[in-house]
Amino acid sequence: MNLWWLVALAILIWNVVSLINARPNTNPVIGIPYSTFLQQLDQQNVEKVSFEGNAVTGQLKQAITFDTSSNELVTPSSSASPSASPSASPTLLPGQNEANRIQTSDRFSTRLPDFGDPALLPELKRQNVQIVVNAQQATSPFIVLLENILPWALFIGLFILLSRRAGAAQQGIFSFGKSRAKLYDAAQKRITFEDVAGVDEAKADLQDIIDYLREPQRYQKLGGRVPHGVLVVGPPGTGKTLLARATAGEANVPFYSISGPEFVEVLVGIGASRVRDLFETAKKQGPSIIFIDEIDAIGRRRNAGIMTGSNEEREQTLNQILVEMDGFQSEHTVVVLAATNRADVLDPALLRPGRFDRQVSVDRPDRSGREAILKVHIKGVPLASDVDLSAIARATPGMVGADLANLVNEAALLGARRSLNAVNQECFWDALEKIQLGAERPLVLSEEDRRIVAYHEGGHALVALLSPDADPLNRVTIVPRGHALGVTLQLPIDDRYNYSKSYLLTRIAVALGGRVAEEEVFGDITTGAENDLEMVTHVVRQMVTRWGMSPEVGLLVQEDRHDEDLGGFLTRRETSEYMAKTIDEAMQKITDERLRHTRKLIADNLDKLHRIASLLLEHESVDADAIRRELGLAPADQTPEVPARVASVEHEPAPVAFSRQEP
Ligand code: ADP
Ligand code: ZN
Repeated sequence: MNLWWLVALAILIWNVVSLINARPNTNPVIGIPYSTFLQQLDQQNVEKVSFEGNAVTGQLKQAITFDTSSNELVTPSSSASPSASPSASPTLLPGQNEANRIQTSDRFSTRLPDFGDPALLPELKRQNVQIVVNAQQATSPFIVLLENILPWALFIGLFILLSRRAGAAQQGIFSFGKSRAKLYDAAQKRITFEDVAGVDEAKADLQDIIDYLREPQRYQKLGGRVPHGVLVVGPPGTGKTLLARATAGEANVPFYSISGPEFVEVLVGIGASRVRDLFETAKKQGPSIIFIDEIDAIGRRRNAGIMTGSNEEREQTLNQILVEMDGFQSEHTVVVLAATNRADVLDPALLRPGRFDRQVSVDRPDRSGREAILKVHIKGVPLASDVDLSAIARATPGMVGADLANLVNEAALLGARRSLNAVNQECFWDALEKIQLGAERPLVLSEEDRRIVAYHEGGHALVALLSPDADPLNRVTIVPRGHALGVTLQLPIDDRYNYSKSYLLTRIAVALGGRVAEEEVFGDITTGAENDLEMVTHVVRQMVTRWGMSPEVGLLVQEDRHDEDLGGFLTRRETSEYMAKTIDEAMQKITDERLRHTRKLIADNLDKLHRIASLLLEHESVDADAIRRELGLAPADQTPEVPARVASVEHEPAPVAFSRQEP
């Protein structure tokens, strides 16, 4: 495109330059007939001539005034008195037109007749006129060609370019309505239930869909109504897309996939026509699966998006989906699978019988599920004999299929970087550490900062070790990683689904341990406890307002609703002024009590804190067993022997999980 700008600029400059040149010349060259030239010669008024081929230009002794329209001399300069000479009195030229027509100059040009004028040269010689003969400028044919062709070439080029663009734009407009569905057909790698692990219930739920797609006649014969729409619900990365593809693979039918946000595009009405097109194509195919990812993007409760603009478009798209699904005849063997991570925000119209009336939920995998998923992903990865997948599964609570796939990949990359022939267990632990805690940061801390971090982490570790309810301590490090300067890791014995009050109180104490240790040892405090305090606030607030764990506030839920229906950011206050105060006091009370408890615990065990801190300053990264040995504590019988972790104090998995993970 830049080139075209340059060309345009050049043309512009050229125009300006020629405009300037075209300014009326004060001493123009007058084109005169040959006869006039001979006449001037007779009057001995010619001073100089130059020939260039047949063209003659020359200089007169005295200026003449010539009317170019009538080809006549206005005043023969030879006979004119100086005062009447038009050259001296330009006022003689009355108007603009006149000025163009009547020119006064002592320069002229004319043409010799082609047959020549044998008398001319002798006469010129006689009058002693200066004669110049210029070689005829041989314009190379190439230049001529260029001069004639180039402007056209540029013009045509520009035209082609523009029309092509216009064409493309037009095409774009007309293909907008075509669905962008990706088709994975049988030619592509077929995915089956073998490739999806840890979601056995979901697989069982989808089994009769597969049977139906395989043998539709069997079902049609008996007139049974097979669900056409299945909603697959689960958190991101749990394998919803994978499961849908595997369903298509098992049934051996084509699989069309499109994602909700893709429906809603710039032009209104396009979403609906895409839907129509997609369903048309699928119906023509015979048995097939349509997969709509992120259906909540279009299928949200209607009339809810007061704050969102493209409501109209979404509604149309959604309506079209409903229309298409209602229009399924019994001979249409198309099953629509739609994925979402929140079924609760969906428009109830979507969930009515005949539409997405069946739900399959895909949850975060449990320990055995994670092991099974790992087994799927290590196919093709050469493993060393020390790799223990069940230990990895135990160390990764909360991780979903996509995370585990990523873990295997990271481990394989690490193995490659270390030039190993097979990926060993250490690669897995290091990869896990990197994923969960962030990459190590080459940050050089001052000796003072290192001491503070060591005592802070030591404080967390000490409280965790001394509290029977705490998640077993796993490892403490003061190597900066991600955003944290140091990390204290605790590893739950198993996935937790339910949290007792005493467990939560212990958790708060462990979190406060860092701040309290700084306070006790340095007599000053730092900003390093920010994350800890955030987590404490969050847990304490939920204990008080949601879980009925404060006698002052009681059992009623006192949460302000963050209302999805109102665009997500409007909050509906459900708490009275009086209650708000009570909540604040109750939260304060729990926190104060925990702070006193933690202070006492650390003050009573200050010697142990010093030992942990110096161990950390020396080794930077220390596992729980080493700390226990140093402190002379009995080795924990239940501590998993794996050096990995999850519930780190610094990197708390979003504490909302406390409620969401309840069975
Ligand atoms: P979702 O659609 O739920 O967001 P995906 O199906 O896109 O998740 O999963 C992303 C990737 O994670 C998959 O391609 C697969 O490699 C891996 N994965 C997720 N869940 C599983 C599972 N249950 N079994 C095996 N691999 C899984
Ligand atoms: Zn901390």
